[in-house]
Amino acid sequence: MDLLATTCLFCAQPIRGDMDYDFGSVLWRCACGAVGVSAARCDFDDAGDQLLTRLAIDGRVSMPAVPVGTSGMISATPFDDRVAFAAIERAVRGAGYELRTRAYEAPIAGMEMFARRAQN
Ligand SMILES: [Zn+2]
Repeated sequence: MDLLATTCLFCAQPIRGDMDYDFGSVLWRCACGAVGVSAARCDFDDAGDQLLTRLAIDGRVSMPAVPVGTSGMISATPFDDRVAFAAIERAVRGAGYELRTRAYEAPIAGMEMFARRAQN
């Protein structure tokens, strides 16, 4: 399975991505202007940060790790992929981009998310 290959969710052209080493995952940049990321459900917040960063949109969707008192422990906030995705949608659409997604089930359940500046 070629994890770098997909088709653009805006123009349907087959494209190959590159590893985005800052985030440790694939990044697609299509000739039509779309930028895409892919993430397992449990990584939606990181994928959201990656997408916002690569679109040069201010803001982050990942939840800050909150220290518990002075224990040195980090609180384990239950992660909700729907909440994370809603935050991504808000940030991307709020910045004037259209967002298109394609869910997949293998190798583990996740989603490709492509954003392109909305046409006026
Ligand atoms: Zn495209």
